[in-house]
Amino acid sequence: CGIVGIVGRRSVSQRLLEALKRLEYRGYDSAGLATISEGTLVRCRAQGKLVNLEMRMREQPLNGIIGIGHTRWATHGAPTERNAHPHMVDGIAVVHNGIIENFAELKAALEETGANFETDTDSEVVAHLLAKYRREGMNSREAMYEMLKRLRGAFCLAILLQDDPSTIMAARNGPPLAIGRGDGEMFIGSDPITLAPFTNEVTYLIDGDWAIVGNTDVSIFDARGNAVTRPRCTSTASA
Ligand code: GLU
Repeated sequence: CGIVGIVGRRSVSQRLLEALKRLEYRGYDSAGLATISEGTLVRCRAQGKLVNLEMRMREQPLNGIIGIGHTRWATHGAPTERNAHPHMVDGIAVVHNGIIENFAELKAALEETGANFETDTDSEVVAHLLAKYRREGMNSREAMYEMLKRLRGAFCLAILLQDDPSTIMAARNGPPLAIGRGDGEMFIGSDPITLAPFTNEVTYLIDGDWAIVGNTDVSIFDARGNAVTRPRCTSTASA
């Protein structure tokens, strides 16, 4: 039910956790994080409250200066650790808020071409679709564009790619998504309250927008794939 992301220049996992805590008021049933540590995508997930995730992370710290996080309010699939986000396929990690209405037909088509699904969620199709387009030779931007064209429903996404370890891709089609600008770091969050400890300088994606977020810049595209600019605002949310 909440999404966060940091394209940083120092360790992100504790900060992602803090950002998720600021989204707790929305309610959730499980949570998870993914980072890229020494070139490899790693994740940690837990059922229940964020303290459970925190305990897991103490046993198995997640290093890395780029990462995404999620609190889940299950709509498709039981609220278990197996169904918790991020979903990972072939070095691609996805967190998703909302519902992908046409996931059943997408899933059936992907399974026909050999995809193995690990969860009962609607969200996992996003990771499989991106993986398929990457295997077919598309770069991450092309794959994102083709993938988004196939989704129906209301959703927000944040995506981490192991072979593109300096950017997070994000998309909005329904629930709000803010991109925050820091000092050599960029932040992604479901709402500016999440980002307030990091920055008050935010840009909101509008419906149909998607973005490639680097640590000092963001490229925003509309649903047709055209580069667009969106206003920078100063959020009044307090840290
Ligand atoms: N529909 C997704 C799921 O059930 C995402 C739910 C959410 O917004 O947290 O996993």
